[in-house]
Amino acid sequence: MAENVKDKVKKPESEWQKELSPEQFQIARKKGTERPFTGEYWNNHEKGTYRCACCGAELFSSDAKFDSGSGWPSFFTSASENAVEKKSDFSHSMSRTEVLCSKCDAHLGHVFEDGPEPTGLRYCINSASLRFEKKTQTGS
Ligand code: FE
Repeated sequence: MAENVKDKVKKPESEWQKELSPEQFQIARKKGTERPFTGEYWNNHEKGTYRCACCGAELFSSDAKFDSGSGWPSFFTSASENAVEKKSDFSHSMSRTEVLCSKCDAHLGHVFEDGPEPTGLRYCINSASLRFEKKTQTGS
């Protein structure tokens, strides 16, 4: 718990808007949701690391990715305990738990308690909030 996750990346909205694509900005900074089965990563089965599209923080590993059938990239755990933050979300007449990047507060998606073992969690994440970094084959 003593890690420096509180070294937050903070930028004005106008700056994020310049750096991100319109879709990334709408989803990651404005809490939007991509339509299921349309994102870049829901059907990605390559090995590697999913980083924050905004700040590059390591958020999820392909090792924890599973096929949820939802049409969004789904993970049963985050890359580390402090990588993401959870927040109650009562928008759209639902009671959900929002998942955010600990470092820059990007909206990632939501977490549900209907995931597979060993955690029973399902992190339902927007592709637009992620940037996939393929594991290199060089062994380094
Ligand atoms: Fe981030």
